Formats: sequence, C-alpha cells, structure tokens
Amino acid sequence: MAEPFPLQPSLWHATAPAAPQTPPLDRDASADICIVGAGYAGLSTALHLAEAGLSVVVLEAREPGWGASGRNGGQVIPGIKYDPSEIAAKYGSEAGEALTRFVGSTADLVFGLIDRHKMDVPYKRAGWIQGAHTPAMLETVKRRSGEWAARGVDAKFLDAAAAARLLGTDRYLGGWLDPRGGGVQPLAYARGLAKAAQAAGAAIHGQSPVVGLSQAGGGWIVRTAQGASVTAGRVVVATNGYTGDLIPKLRQTVIRPNSFIIATEPLSDNLAGTILPEGQVTSDTRQLLLYFRKDHTNRLLMGGRGPFREPRDAADWAHLERVVGKMYPQAKGLRVDYRWCGRVALTRDFLPHLHEPEPGLLVDIGCMGRGVGLQSAMGKAMADYLVSGDRARLPFPVVPITPLPLHALNELYVSAIIAWYRLTDGGMKDKAA
Ligand SMILES: Cc1cc2nc3c(=O)[nH]c(=O)nc-3n(C[C@H](O)[C@H](O)[C@H](O)COP(=O)(O)OP(=O)(O)OC[C@H]3O[C@@H](n4cnc5c(N)ncnc54)[C@H](O)[C@@H]3O)c2cc1C
Repeated sequence: MAEPFPLQPSLWHATAPAAPQTPPLDRDASADICIVGAGYAGLSTALHLAEAGLSVVVLEAREPGWGASGRNGGQVIPGIKYDPSEIAAKYGSEAGEALTRFVGSTADLVFGLIDRHKMDVPYKRAGWIQGAHTPAMLETVKRRSGEWAARGVDAKFLDAAAAARLLGTDRYLGGWLDPRGGGVQPLAYARGLAKAAQAAGAAIHGQSPVVGLSQAGGGWIVRTAQGASVTAGRVVVATNGYTGDLIPKLRQTVIRPNSFIIATEPLSDNLAGTILPEGQVTSDTRQLLLYFRKDHTNRLLMGGRGPFREPRDAADWAHLERVVGKMYPQAKGLRVDYRWCGRVALTRDFLPHLHEPEPGLLVDIGCMGRGVGLQSAMGKAMADYLVSGDRARLPFPVVPITPLPLHALNELYVSAIIAWYRLTDGGMKDKAA
C-alpha cells in the first residue's frame, strides 16, 4: 500500500489495550469464508459468522484497526447522511422504513457488542449533538430531530442557548441531540472486536496483505504476499478507504480524502467543565464538517479537513489548532499532544456500496463519517446474508462496480473542493472554520 504510517502514533495507539496476537499466515489454510481487511466491517463480519458456526479466516495487511477503524474520531453516530423521509423517497416507504430501522440501530449494536463481549473499551453514551452553522441548516436539523422523534427516538431540538450550554461554545445557531450516540476509544473497539471474533473461533492473520483472488473448484483461492493462501467457499472484501488494486476498478468507485485530528493535553477539571460539560460527542453541518469531543481522559479532540495528500509536518494540522482557539478561547494555547489522520472512502451517493462481481465474492466499500456504527452493522448484515443466502438481509442493494468518471481528475478536483468549501462553508455566526 502506498500510504505511509502517520507521522507519530495516534492518541488511540498510545492508549489502547494490547493488540491481540495475529501472526502472519505462514501456511496454506482453508475456511468457509475468507475476509480481507480487519477494520470494523471485516471484524464484525468475522465475529457474526464465527458465532453462527462457520469457519472464518481474516487476512489483514497490517494489524486489526490499522485503517480508519483505529484512527477515527470515535463518535458513534446512528443514521446516514439522509433523513428518514429522504430514505423513503429514494427506496419507497416500506423498504425505506426498513433501512431507516437498520441505520437507526447501528449505535445500539456497537454499545451492545462492547457490553456483551465485555470489551476493554473506554466509552460514554451521552448522545451526539449536531450543531447547525447556518439558518438553513438550523431548519434542517429541526426537521431531522422531528423525524427521528416521530419514530420513537428521544431526539431533542436545541435552540441557540441550549446548544451553547451543551457544547460550551456559542458558535452554533442551534442543533439537535440524538441520545443514541456516544463516544468510544475506536482502536480499543477494533481490538475488542478482533478478540471477540477470535474467541468465537475466527483466525485472524496480520501482516498478510492479500495480492490475488482466483476462482477454483466452485470456491476461491486468496493469495497473500508471503505466498501462503486460503482456500474458501466465499470471500468478503472489506478494505474500504485503504482499497488497493485487488479487484479491478474497485478503487475507482470512491474518492479517498484524508481526515485530520488533533488531541490536546488533558484539560483541567475546571476547563473540562466548560467544554462539552455533559460529555456528548459532536459534529456540525458544514460540508467539510468539524467534529470534536473529549476522550475519557478529558483531552479535547478536534477533527476536520486537511490536505488530500499525506501530511508532511505539524503545519498540516495548524488550522485545527486555530479552530480550537476560536471555538473555545479558554483552551487557546493548550499543548497539542497528538496529530494523526486517516482516509475515508466517499462514494458518489454518500452511501456504502455492496458489490458481488462474481458469485461468492462480496465487497463492502464506502465508509463516510459514520462507519463506527454503520460498518459494524454492515458486517453483521453481511454475515446474516452469507449464512442464510437471503439477499434481503442486506440493508443496501447489491450494485455493479461502476468507476467514477475521470477518477484521477476527481481526486484532484476534491483537493480544489476542499479549498473552495473552506471559503464557502462560513455561515452567519460561523467564524470557527
Ligand atoms: C480520521 C477519521 C475520522 C473518522 N471519524 C469517524 C467518527 O467519529 N465516527 C464514525 O462513525 N466514523 C468515523 N470515520 C469513519 C470510520 O472510521 C470508517 O467508516 C470505518 O472505520 C471503516 O471501517 P472498515 O472496516 O470499512 O475499513 P478500515 O477500518 O479502513 O479497514 C480496512 C482494512 O483493510 C486492510 N487492507 C486493505 N487492503 C488490504 C489487502 N490487500 N489485504 C489485506 N488487508 C487489506 C487495511 O489495512 C485496513 O486495516 C472516520 C474516519 C477517519 C479516517
């Protein structure tokens, strides 16, 4: 893979429980299912398949959680980009409500897995706040909270004063609070999933990049760079923003911008009481959104856009330090202890895509910004499908692999869009970005 490691270990690497033992694949093996990629999607698929009694081998190029699953903001946010009414308009009312139930349940799944498997994962489930940065977005979040409230969620619209009280900043015109959300230590969760999958019987091999897939005898042979291979009835590819050239044209179906995060030194108790005092996690309505939270040791994390390329030095995160100072003047000048980044995979319609280019080869790609919950749930759904053979168990339709037109230009174009949104994302009260 071309991407280098981040410049320094992330906060999550510095504070996660020990990684599970995942020795490289050093001899040929066989399994009912072989999974490529050990992020939330691959690991959740492995866990649920192993629990259903199938034999599973997971092959990971580096180590479980090396990709976006060990680098993200750790915000567990149910739902997708689209509101229930938009989902119904796109898929029809019956299928739309089923998909809405699925995407609405993703946070429950994550916190349920952590509890059921007694994972060593620091977490807090105090809800997710989405701050509105323009009057139009304030109307949108009002409607959004109403749509979820109509489906039984204790969602709350927040006026400017209520948002300022919970966020600890008056930079937003209001927002909504979704009580289903919360925060986790994301790498601890990835490692917890890996350990749970191993306990259920799955074999996980790190440092085992897959370099070839071929059909043989009604099944598949999955070859690693070391030369060992797995013979499997079926294969799941869950490589997402770190997808290489394993499947022709797959990488061209997504744009993979880098998202950047900083974490400050731990806040004093007094300071922590003025910033997100009730411990919600939060992101906003900008196109290039800002996402921020405190971790379990009261460090303030600020995430957002950054260069499309890999970072060169600390200056590539400087804009996020400025945002902290504007959003929370009392935190200006706090030492930044960690800087890291990772790649998200954006599809054209901002939905995860499922492909089955050949019988027995299932692909899940497109991680967006809700993958902690969504990719965990996609893994469970893919396992349900592989066990039952019933495609209706998949939440999204299986679609052909369709590269984005002029993909290489698209990636350049995104760099330009990042610069453009930076200028245009500003709203009435918005001076934070
Ligand atoms: C900086 C950042 C912040 C984010 N913040 C949030 C957030 O707060 N909340 C949220 O819900 N989502 C967030 N996301 C998105 C979320 O992290 C992802 O949607 C999710 O982790 C994707 O999981 P995955 O298993 O699909 O992919 P990944 O975790 O990326 O895993 C893919 C794995 O495939 C492996 N791989 C690739 N090619 C091969 C190969 N040939 N052979 C073997 N292995 C291979 C890679 O090494 C990698 O480990 C964020 C993402 C980033 C990058």
